[in-house]
Amino acid sequence: MYLCIDLDAFFVSVEQALNPSLAAKPVIVGGLPQERGVVASASYEARKFGIHSGMPTSLAYRLCPQAIFLKGNFRHYRLYSKRFHQIISSYSPSVDMVSIDEAYINVAGTRRLFGTPTEMASRMKNDIKKTLNIPSSIGIARTKVFSKIACEQSKPGGMLAVSRENEIAFLAPLSVNVLPGIGPKTAGILKNLNINTVEELLKTPDWIVETALGNHYKILKFFIQGGDYRSVDTMKSISRDTTLHEDTINRELIYALFYYLTERACSTLRKRKLTAKKLTVKVRFSDFKTVSKGAKMPGASAQQIVYELGIRILQDMLKEKKRIRLVGIALSGFEYDGLQFSMFRMKEERLNRLNGALDRVRDKFGFNSLFAANTTVLKRNFEDNNYGYTLHTPSLSQ
Ligand SMILES: [Mg+2]
Repeated sequence: MYLCIDLDAFFVSVEQALNPSLAAKPVIVGGLPQERGVVASASYEARKFGIHSGMPTSLAYRLCPQAIFLKGNFRHYRLYSKRFHQIISSYSPSVDMVSIDEAYINVAGTRRLFGTPTEMASRMKNDIKKTLNIPSSIGIARTKVFSKIACEQSKPGGMLAVSRENEIAFLAPLSVNVLPGIGPKTAGILKNLNINTVEELLKTPDWIVETALGNHYKILKFFIQGGDYRSVDTMKSISRDTTLHEDTINRELIYALFYYLTERACSTLRKRKLTAKKLTVKVRFSDFKTVSKGAKMPGASAQQIVYELGIRILQDMLKEKKRIRLVGIALSGFEYDGLQFSMFRMKEERLNRLNGALDRVRDKFGFNSLFAANTTVLKRNFEDNNYGYTLHTPSLSQ
């Protein structure tokens, strides 16, 4: 059994906890109306006016001019997130934070200490309310996927447990949009088939939906039947490295290789729907001395962001001006890509859309059907094939 806990209107709730005069008012975090920002979080009082995350603040202002607009303070949110994590970790050793304000908790083995999952959930909820003065919602179910859907349905401030026997009855009347992986495109296709609810989806013959959605339908079915997200704990890191044909001090070539390796690692990360919080750069010099150095990042899956951080570390490592023999990158500290909109991730969101498009083209036409400008030097140095470049070490063809 899993428990999915999510803090309600998190950024706004933190602002309200710090400044009680904001309570029960339409409050919007994300920027001031005259700026070009978007709504990162809106209080439920503001949502009544049709305001939601991702909406330009200028539009939010037109819908509700009396709302209180705040720029937000990420340091405060981080601090609250940390305390939230501490509280829930006191209930179970198996806590998986998937975004700043949301976590999955495996409730196996907590019964003796905290009672039934529902009892534990209400204690946890009260604990958070009392300590942080922030409302939360909780879903309890057999899989993470169902617990997340239950959590969403119980918002704001609710709690919903779905027993195994009631899973289908629970899902049936809900919009298909509650299922993971249904984006606007899939939703549009289903709508054209007159499928709006999960019940309608289940009643439609398989072959019809499969023809319309292709492989994607299999994933949907997998989740509906109780399949779950892959456990993050089973995978420790994704790494890509290569030994060069010849030791080199050619910076242009090394950086290009590093970009290429980063791209490969990040594309695997995205395929698994993960983000990484740590990157490690590895270099082996011609004298076989090997150095590796890591850095923390905000959960990222875009090579552009990872490269920006990684290249600084690499440049630092190459100060010695020795020939190098191997270069590599490892990503670790995985989290499910929460798909949660936040103003602090706007750059990442933009890159995600771009990279999603790159991944799709490459899946269809081969990795090298597209290549980044800063890897052109590789074209002169390595042969390419459908899978990418044929480098000295075969690990790269994966
Ligand atoms: Mg939340």
